[in-house]
Amino acid sequence: EKKIEVIRNKIISIENYPKDGIVFRDILPILNDYTAMSYVLDVFEEHYKQITFTKIVGTEARGFLFGVPLAQRLNIGFVPARKKGKLPPPVISETYNLEYGTDTIEIQADALNSNDNVLIIDDLLATGGTVNATYNLIKALGANVEHAGFLINLPALGGEFLLNKNNLQTFNIFN
Ligand code: 5GP
Repeated sequence: EKKIEVIRNKIISIENYPKDGIVFRDILPILNDYTAMSYVLDVFEEHYKQITFTKIVGTEARGFLFGVPLAQRLNIGFVPARKKGKLPPPVISETYNLEYGTDTIEIQADALNSNDNVLIIDDLLATGGTVNATYNLIKALGANVEHAGFLINLPALGGEFLLNKNNLQTFNIFN
């Protein structure tokens, strides 16, 4: 599809960043381009508009960039999942492994409840560690979560497999 090619052409691959042997996908040029950003939101909206969600949870930091405008398109609220220590208490926490290191992610304890049906949004799926931890936090608050959407999936890193094991259906705009 034309929109997907416009989006793909904005992504820059940077070798040996942030560490040797890693090829980093820089998605920020999408935000610099009104049309490409609109197309990202169009593709996500088209894919998810048939499902009734009550909240998007986006993961720090690039999940915020797509999660907030998509929540506006879907007429729902947005909840940030943030790195440890950034959110005022009460919060719940989960520690996880990521492609380069370990991290702890938190959600505000009153941000979701058992009436919520959540869509998780992040820019990129690698090992799945970040979104798997986010999934665990959403479940711990009693909310329902069955879908996670990404701009990019790196299939070789197995994230899709990990998330699907939790009955989390994944969607990505491209690989
Ligand atoms: P995972 O937890 O799936 O291993 O890693 C995905 C997380 O790391 C995402 O939150 C994503 O923003 C970040 N990440 C890992 N590699 C890249 C990359 O090449 N480009 C971008 N933009 N983010 C990355």
